[in-house]
Parts: sequence; C-alpha cells; structure tokens
Amino acid sequence: MKYTEKQLENIAKECTEFEHIINAMGYGSSLLNISREEYKRRCTDCTNWLGGSCEIFKKIFSQYQ
Ligand code: SF4
Repeated sequence: MKYTEKQLENIAKECTEFEHIINAMGYGSSLLNISREEYKRRCTDCTNWLGGSCEIFKKIFSQYQ
C-alpha cells in the first residue's frame, strides 16, 4: 500500500467528512459483530476514500510533505 496505517488514521482524525462504510450501510456495529478493533477511524474505511481518490485526503496529505 502507498500509505502507512498511521497516515490513514491521522488524516481521518483531522477530517470532518469521515463516514464509516459500516455506518453508511445503515447497520449498527453490534449487528455485524464488529469489534472496536475493526471499527477504526481511518481513511480506507471511509465512504469517501474511493480507492485513494478522496480530494480531502489528498489535500491534507500534501500538507504533510
Ligand atoms: S477518506 Fe477523505 S473524507 Fe474520508 S476520512 Fe479520509 S480524508 Fe476524510
């Protein structure tokens, strides 16, 4: 992968547009038996990620360079 786990988490932490894919599906996390460990706030689990083409991500990421 192009980005580290840490970067994906840090950027999602800063982002106000984070929407977890599990929430977007309309299920509660308990229904799907998702543990806290799996329910992470990180860009790759966000509905706006779109395989790395999220514009917000690119913008925040470029500020890290
Ligand atoms: S993928 Fe985009 S919208 Fe989602 S948390 Fe990351 S930067 Fe924010």
